Amino acid sequence: MPATAPITQDVLTIPRKEPEGPVNLIGLTRPQLRDVLIAAGTPEKQANMRVGQIWQWIYQKGVRDFDAMTNLAKTYRAELAANFVIEIPEIVTRQLSDDGTRKYLVRIAGGHEVETVYIPEEGRGTLCISSQVGCTLTCSFCHTGTQRLVRNLTSAEIVGQIMLARDDLGEWPEPGRAPKDETRLLSNIVLMGMGEPLYNFENVRDAMKIAMDGEGISLSRRRITLSTSGVVPEIARTAEEIGCLLAVSFHATTDEIRDRLVPINKKWNIATLLDALREYPRLSNSERITFEYVMLKDVNDSDEDARRLVKLIAGIPAKINLIPFNEWPGAPYQRSDWKRIKGFADIIYKAGYASPIRTPRGEDIMAACGQLKSASERALRRNRAEAG
Ligand code: SAH
Ligand code: SF4
Repeated sequence: MPATAPITQDVLTIPRKEPEGPVNLIGLTRPQLRDVLIAAGTPEKQANMRVGQIWQWIYQKGVRDFDAMTNLAKTYRAELAANFVIEIPEIVTRQLSDDGTRKYLVRIAGGHEVETVYIPEEGRGTLCISSQVGCTLTCSFCHTGTQRLVRNLTSAEIVGQIMLARDDLGEWPEPGRAPKDETRLLSNIVLMGMGEPLYNFENVRDAMKIAMDGEGISLSRRRITLSTSGVVPEIARTAEEIGCLLAVSFHATTDEIRDRLVPINKKWNIATLLDALREYPRLSNSERITFEYVMLKDVNDSDEDARRLVKLIAGIPAKINLIPFNEWPGAPYQRSDWKRIKGFADIIYKAGYASPIRTPRGEDIMAACGQLKSASERALRRNRAEAG
C-alpha cells in the first residue's frame, strides 16, 4: 500500500456473532443473556436472577457444563444444555519465557489465530489481550501492523482470552471463596495485544463490561487499560461506555514524525488527539492517562523530543511509559541506546511526570509489545517465500 493511501475501516460489515449453531452464552451482555433465556422458556420474572446465577458459574467458578450448576433445578439445567453452549477459544500452543511470561496462540472460529500474553509481576499478573486478528492500521514499527486485518474478535473471543488464561493458571476459586484482586494471579488486563480496540468498539465494550461486573470476572475498572493508537471519535465513548483506564500510543512530538510512525495521525493529528485526551479523565472519572512512547534510535528519542512532549501534554494528568523498541525480523528501526532512554526519562521526570521504562518481557518467545503476529501468518509467508 502506498504511504499516502487513506486509512479505511472496512470491517463494519463483519457480523458480530457467529450465526449458526446453538447460542454460546459466553460474551453475551446481561440484557442479551436475559433475552436468550426468555426465548428458551425461562419465565420473565426469574430471568434476571438466572442471569446472575449463570454468570457466577461461568465467570467466577469457571464452569462449562450446565449440569454442574447445582443451584439450578435439574430440569432447568437440561433445558439450558439443550439450547446453549459455553465455549471459549482453544489454546493451540503455549510458550513459556525464561522470565515467566506465557504466550498463548489461540484459535478462534474460522481457523484464525490470535495471541494472548500473560505477564507475571511482583504483586500482580497482567494479561495482554487481542481485539482483532491483525490490524487495519499500519504503524511502521509494529509487527502486527504488517499483517492485514482478517476480522474483529467477538466479545466471546475477547472475554474468552481471560478465561483460557485462568484455565491455564488454574485460577478458578473454590466454591464460596470470593477472589480478591490483590491475590489474583490474573489481576490486570491490558488491551495491548493484536489490533486496535477502538475499531472493534462494541465487542470490546461488551467483553470489558463482563470483566468488570461483580458477578462476572469481577476486576476493578482501574485494573483494565485500553490502549489506542488515537481513534479520536471513540475516545469520549470509551470514557462513557467502558470507563476503564486509557493508554495512548503517542510515540512522536511532531505531526511529521507521528504521520510516519502512527499513520492514523494523518486523520486525527496530535492537536486533535490531545483535545480528546484532555476530556477523558473528567468523562471517565479516572486518574491519569498513560502516554506510551516507543524509543526508536535517532527517530523520536532526542532531548528536544522529550521537552516537546512535556510541553504538549501540559495540563493532562499523565504518566509516560517509555517502551524500548522491540525488534522483529525485518523491522526498519532500532532500539534507542539505554543511555539515551535514561536521558529522555530524566527530562520527563524533572518536569514532574512518572516515566517508567517498560521492561521488555518475553522477548525470547516474541511476546513483547508489538511483536505479536499470528504464527499461521508467519508460516504462510514462509511457505510463500519457499515456494517463490
Ligand atoms: N493498537 C493499539 C494496542 C496494541 S499495541 C495501540 O496501538 O495502542 C500496544 C502498544 O505496543 C502500543 O503502544 C504500540 O504502539 C506498542 N508497540 C507496537 N509495536 C512495538 C514494538 N515493536 N516495540 C515496542 N512497542 C511497540
Ligand atoms: Fe495496529 Fe496498534 Fe500495531 Fe498500530 S501499534 S499497527 S494500531 S496494533
